[in-house]
Amino acid sequence: MSEQLPFLPFTKPTIDEETIAAVANVLRSGWLTSGPNVQALEAQLSEYFGGRPVRTFNSGTCTMEIALRIAGIGAGDEVITTPNSWVATANVIIETGATPVFADIDPRTHNIDLDKVEAVITPRTKAIIPVHMCGLPCDMDKLYALAKKHNLRVVEDAAQAIGSTWQGKRIGSFGDFASFSFQVNKNIMTGEGGCLVLNNAEEARLAEKYRLQGVTRSGLDGIDVDVLGGKYNMTDIAAAIGLGQMKHLAEFNAKRLALAKHYFTTFGPDFEAQTGAELPIADFEQCNWHMFHIVLPERINRGSFMEKMMELKIGLGYHYRAIHLFSYYRARGFTDGMFPIAERVGKQIVTLPLFPTMNESDVERTVAAVKSCLQ
Ligand SMILES: *Cc1c(COP(=O)(O)O)cnc(C)c1O
Repeated sequence: MSEQLPFLPFTKPTIDEETIAAVANVLRSGWLTSGPNVQALEAQLSEYFGGRPVRTFNSGTCTMEIALRIAGIGAGDEVITTPNSWVATANVIIETGATPVFADIDPRTHNIDLDKVEAVITPRTKAIIPVHMCGLPCDMDKLYALAKKHNLRVVEDAAQAIGSTWQGKRIGSFGDFASFSFQVNKNIMTGEGGCLVLNNAEEARLAEKYRLQGVTRSGLDGIDVDVLGGKYNMTDIAAAIGLGQMKHLAEFNAKRLALAKHYFTTFGPDFEAQTGAELPIADFEQCNWHMFHIVLPERINRGSFMEKMMELKIGLGYHYRAIHLFSYYRARGFTDGMFPIAERVGKQIVTLPLFPTMNESDVERTVAAVKSCLQ
């Protein structure tokens, strides 16, 4: 049977013909770098995030680094983040010259445990970078109460969280900095890209400088450089893809939600008790269902499990292996056992297929395969 079925990847972008035509138009126009499409995308994103200033970039990594720079964070400062994320989240702290400090995650939400954050705050702590893992929001009330109490800036790594909400309000529409990624696996994408939601016009101006070599232009030949910027601007080609994706964001997220619900129904209420595997939190209100994870029981070796699933033509991901256990971080003094929950999750988590053009039978096929590979 399985020979007849096509390979099911864990994710796949959805791109319509209108977007392809829009990209072709950008190519024909002769204006390929940041231009009218970037401006239009920033305007749409700003509207989406309740009128806050938004600037686009060529990744959802430089967005966080630039937020830290705008906040004046650098050498001598400490920034607290989660060990359970894509390595970018911690790398950006080191890029600014500051020191990353980790706090372990909550075993159910897989988000940073805010009580553990409080325990590692020192007089040098300047900011927190929480991650809304898989689009499941952190406890925003608790996060911002903590930030206020200790006078910390927050850079939300909302790379996965476009369309997620907290008590009815969109992630990014309130709070401090919010960074989103438009990397190709995210709920909407621009090939590569990202955006940063900022607090005011002054921060937005600084963001513009940091994304283009620190340059400020005036008139036809006026130019000055007064900060050290990099090369992080989004192309109009990418922005045209983003504009095409924005039209479908609500529909993409609704489809993801429906598929996630179908996963829970198909796994059934006894799945966890019978197998020892853990399902994600069944949040059908606030989460944008960027990914659907299960944590495998200790008795299962993830590599062999992924191989068996691959034989059944089902592609899996793993998001993420604990950051502090990478060689580069070990060399900075981090070791096994420091953040045991992130370590266990990082070793046993797998990402099941979930993307808008999947159908219910793909979910059913995946669940059947998971159950058989767990035996
Ligand atoms: C995708 C992602 C990033 C990085 O985004 P890029 O656009 O690939 O640079 C950072 N953090 C998290 C949690 C992500 O999922």
